[in-house]
Amino acid sequence: MKYYGALEAGGTKMVLSIMDETGNVEQQTRMPTKTPAETMPGMLAFFSEHSICALGIGGFGPLNLDRRSPQYGSIMETPKLAWRNYPLMQAFRDELHVPVGLDTDVNAAALAEVHLGAAKGKESCLYITVGTGIGGGVIIHGKPVHGLMHPEIGHTAIVPEPNDPMPRGICPYHSCCPEGMASGPAMEKRWGKPAAELPPDHPGWELESSYLAQLCSNAILSFSPEKIILGGGVMQQKFLLPMIRNKVLKLLNGYIAHPVIFSDIDEYIVEPGLGTRSGIMGAFLLALEAEKEERWNEKDRPSVPRSAY
Ligand code: ADP
Ligand code: ZN
Repeated sequence: MKYYGALEAGGTKMVLSIMDETGNVEQQTRMPTKTPAETMPGMLAFFSEHSICALGIGGFGPLNLDRRSPQYGSIMETPKLAWRNYPLMQAFRDELHVPVGLDTDVNAAALAEVHLGAAKGKESCLYITVGTGIGGGVIIHGKPVHGLMHPEIGHTAIVPEPNDPMPRGICPYHSCCPEGMASGPAMEKRWGKPAAELPPDHPGWELESSYLAQLCSNAILSFSPEKIILGGGVMQQKFLLPMIRNKVLKLLNGYIAHPVIFSDIDEYIVEPGLGTRSGIMGAFLLALEAEKEERWNEKDRPSVPRSAY
């Protein structure tokens, strides 16, 4: 049996998994995200203990995913200063000597959802997490979207509601972006208590669903995903999803007249098919991909004996 490492690298915690080639978890552990000096040794030790053939990482970002860049695989401008410019992918490669695949946490989750979860059978999807931050992973033609960097739809502009007592939001970079207006911490700042403590009839949920609907509607118009999947801590409030669906229909106002949206929105904007496991399963898929790619590269260089793999 072959084993793979999967790492969900979050801003507050790391989830580390060893999986067999079918994705069954052999071992899993968690560690708090401190500084690289404090957190890396424990993670390297965990993965070194098992002879894995590749590692996949879904990481908090922004990340440098440009393969032609000398900083490929590094974390970029993050508010977590200790991790800024940290060469995350290279650090694992150097120590573990196995292929390492890296993408954003949300691209990884989207990848898992399109291959194994709620968007299985589709070629495109959007995965949005509504938690400590708001991020979106976009899959088109079965692959995560990268361009100059990667999409950051949690920081696009949205319009404040007239009755919002905190109309600028809390993002240090922008006024009125989804992360600044509708993340868990934004709700807590606006209402003085955690989102989980607001009753279903609290006016905060009208605002919340309105901002998330703006995000979904903008994404439908920008990427045209075949499915939108909403995950993250705040989405545990189950009444939120139907509120968002209704508001998306109102915002689109019949302009996107596709029956999948028009007549079947309950099947179009959905919760994750993999529950809270989208991220780690996505990291596993990135590990499989990294291994496959390394083999192809190897084939191109016949001087290296293939038996090395
Ligand atoms: P992270 O984004 O850090 O990976 P989560 O997706 O769990 O983790 O998001 C954490 C945020 O979600 C917190 O701001 C918290 O207030 C909010 N949250 C967690 N559980 C709930 C809940 N049941 N209802 C509403 N908000 C929640
Ligand atoms: Zn922002």
